[in-house]
Amino acid sequence: MKRVGVFICHCGTNIAQTVDCEKVAKMAGGLPQVAFSTDYKYMCSEPGQQVIINAVKEHRLDRVVVASCSPRMHEPTFRKTLEKAGLNPYLLEMANIREQCSWVHQDKEKGTAKAFDLVKMAVAKVLKNEPLSRSSIPIHKRALVIGGGIAGIQAALDIADAGYVVDIVEKEPTIGGRMAQIDKTFPTMDCSACILTPKMVDAASNPNINLLTYCEVEKVDGYVGNFDVTIRHKARSVDMNKCTGCGTCWEKCPTRVASEFDMGLGTRKAIYTPFPQAVPNKPVIDRENCLYFKTGKCGVCQKVCPTGAVDYTQEDRLETVRYGAIVVATGFDLFDESVYGEYGYGRYPDIISGLHFERMINASGPTMGKIKRPSDHTEPKTVVFVKCVGSRDEAKGKPYCSKTCCMYTAKHATLVREKIKDSQAIVFYMDVRTPGKNYDEFYQRAVNEYGVQYVRGRVSKIYQSHGKLIVRGEDTLLGRPVEVEADMVVLATAMVARGDAGELARKLGISYDQHDFFTEAHPKLRPVETHTAGVYLAGTCQGPKDIPDSVAQASAAAAKVCALLSREEMPTEPVVSAVNEAVCSGCGLCISICPYKAIELKTISERVHGKTRERQVASVNTGLCQGCGACTVACRSGALNLKGFTNEQILAEVDALCL
Ligand SMILES: Cc1cc2nc3c(=O)[nH]c(=O)nc-3n(C[C@H](O)[C@H](O)[C@H](O)COP(=O)(O)OP(=O)(O)OC[C@H]3O[C@@H](n4cnc5c(N)ncnc54)[C@H](O)[C@@H]3O)c2cc1C
Ligand code: SF4
Ligand code: SF4
Repeated sequence: MKRVGVFICHCGTNIAQTVDCEKVAKMAGGLPQVAFSTDYKYMCSEPGQQVIINAVKEHRLDRVVVASCSPRMHEPTFRKTLEKAGLNPYLLEMANIREQCSWVHQDKEKGTAKAFDLVKMAVAKVLKNEPLSRSSIPIHKRALVIGGGIAGIQAALDIADAGYVVDIVEKEPTIGGRMAQIDKTFPTMDCSACILTPKMVDAASNPNINLLTYCEVEKVDGYVGNFDVTIRHKARSVDMNKCTGCGTCWEKCPTRVASEFDMGLGTRKAIYTPFPQAVPNKPVIDRENCLYFKTGKCGVCQKVCPTGAVDYTQEDRLETVRYGAIVVATGFDLFDESVYGEYGYGRYPDIISGLHFERMINASGPTMGKIKRPSDHTEPKTVVFVKCVGSRDEAKGKPYCSKTCCMYTAKHATLVREKIKDSQAIVFYMDVRTPGKNYDEFYQRAVNEYGVQYVRGRVSKIYQSHGKLIVRGEDTLLGRPVEVEADMVVLATAMVARGDAGELARKLGISYDQHDFFTEAHPKLRPVETHTAGVYLAGTCQGPKDIPDSVAQASAAAAKVCALLSREEMPTEPVVSAVNEAVCSGCGLCISICPYKAIELKTISERVHGKTRERQVASVNTGLCQGCGACTVACRSGALNLKGFTNEQILAEVDALCL
């Protein structure tokens, strides 16, 4: 005979005003194998917990049901209470009679009846609970940051400053990300390179940080504290140890191609560093464009290199490293502007994106900071800015707000007015959103001090006529059509997720939203964690953000990593899936279902009719299993059971409710 104790909480009046707690406690006392039941005003309070401890001892209870709020709120509290009372903490069940009962009902009689049903179910379940015990896993004290933009750099610096070794895996030949392409930064207008490059250099010179540039994550195995990450070191064709970054090779290289860093407004060589302050400042060969790789001829860079660093025979190299924690900071891409055919992007060279404009106004950019029309290199006198291109547009683009475009458009328009005294800067907008510190003041200055004109309305068409761009739209404040003759148009294109975000998410076992941005574990309470323990998010890979928000999130992710790495080992939840090997048919269905890659097949030997035979069965890696239960539903043989939520327990609850 088991001896269950039932404890009904009033939660002040939160529960008691809709549920007759005393009555529920009395009725629960009549349930089979319930040895004691009572009600109390605040069960989670110190005296409330003492009521449970005393009752366990006095009535020799061997399992407990607490009917109160959601287990998400106080399950850990009551588990600790059971431990204090000398019981296994997993011999507890909670009936949620607040969120699932009193808060959603008004009729006290019906509320009381429902609360009793919930208690009945919990009692039926707890009778089948088995004691469970936590185990622990060691924590490997090394972190990986994927992506070397400002978010990744900040996260790595914070982790390294706390004394842990951290590797940054960056797919480009240099760290820096988008911020390296930006000229000045709103709202302070300090030069982006001036604040970014010292951080890049700090990262490179920090003895705890290893920069793995021109590298990509190939495969991720393992689990929190013990991720085995296979990294692809792409062939640079330059020996990093021998190269001094003297630049002779790219000076002499005869091949010029459009520079991705300069958004095609300038050129680079086939052997190149993306920009002069690149870190590391050592080149790579772009094999697709290199004459040697295309035709077998040339070889100039190898001939001129004074240190013999150029190595055409280099091949990609794979390396597997163990990490305790991973920060994902892979940033954002920009929306494909050509989707807006009526805006003429790609058809007319003088229609550019905000990032093109950043390169154009940059003193070390392709036009040496001069604002020039790409078509004829003349100075534009009227520049039109179109906001929300791709953002807040469900029909063609993305329904979300890109958060930074309002501010960078105000910045761009201000710079046009500052650099070209007799210019006009006209902004077409739907709303102006300036929620950051000193952001609205910045926008007001653009309008009042720099004379930027704001026209409320969407642009319907842009076309070329007599060397001008005709911008047609509607001024929705005045309720009349407008037409502007512009020399150049700048489109504020939406921030979108990286094209390979889904693939990376699958490698890491993390989730992503309908727009491919990585999903945080909880939007308010766990904004930098993912559902996979030990994997954290930083910066724009999680959603559009400006630099201050990216940096803040990066430091938050780093704090989480440091808290994890500061432990020698961490306890694991025992609520994980378990395989009944006798029943498992080895079909492998659960492997494809498990979102955390926690199941694999293993071979077992067994004796059948006096003979030994081998067969395959599912095997759960308890370090990876997050206890979601997806596999238990998928298993046709009923071989998988989630500890603490076994099929038998669930059916007992259903029986208690229905029979
Ligand atoms: C036109 C424009 C102007 C802006 N102006 C401002 C401004 O004035 N002020 C401001 O606060 N914000 C501004 N922003 C926003 C700012 O650019 C972002 O907030 C910031 O760059 C986000 O940094 P991040 O590290 O999250 O991403 P990113 O800068 O995108 O860095 C991500 C890094 O990860 C790397 N990466 C991507 N995928 C992988 C992978 N699979 N493996 C390894 N590495 C990978 C990338 O190569 C990159 O280096 C502007 C944005 C735009 C588009
Ligand atoms: S010439 Fe040689 S040493 Fe100089 S940058 Fe090129 S590869 Fe490096
Ligand atoms: S419960 Fe099953 S599906 Fe869910 S994480 Fe564990 S093994 Fe994977």
